[in-house]
Amino acid sequence: MEKEKVRIISPCAKCGLCCIEKNVFITVEELRRIKEYTGMDIDEFAEVYYSPLGVVTILLKKDEYGRCIFLKNSLCSIHEVKPFQCKTYPVIYSPMIAPVEVREGVYVFRCASGNMVVEVDADYFWEETKRRTRYLVNYYSRPPEEIIREIERIASAGARHGKDNR
Ligand code: SF4
Repeated sequence: MEKEKVRIISPCAKCGLCCIEKNVFITVEELRRIKEYTGMDIDEFAEVYYSPLGVVTILLKKDEYGRCIFLKNSLCSIHEVKPFQCKTYPVIYSPMIAPVEVREGVYVFRCASGNMVVEVDADYFWEETKRRTRYLVNYYSRPPEEIIREIERIASAGARHGKDNR
């Protein structure tokens, strides 16, 4: 059997630490999925920034204690539609983030609490990093007005699979 490219060496202890005081960046597609899943209005869970340089950034909101708004009893309440950034954590597919350990052909990542340890084959890491980078470059090279219009369309659309998470 082919060896897994991403291996969990030590599992998540469900402490919720990775969901506190972190900026979770989401795409328009993720914004749409979360809105449809929760039935919430987007301004209840997301903040949209439009920089003077024309970059549209969408962040999940935090509560008054700095916890992600979707963190409930130390668990993610939108697990089925959680953003890519959360799904892959503690591996971050970015050339800007250094793994804690580099061995021959393998990168090792550790979560904020140190409980969860994940090993990724280096070739796979770079394949995924290039794929993610291409996706983000395409995403951010769209005219920002177009992205804002899309966000407005999502904001005004009704929820299809409303679920109360509050
Ligand atoms: S979306 Fe879920 S996994 Fe991601 S930070 Fe929020 S609670 Fe944590």
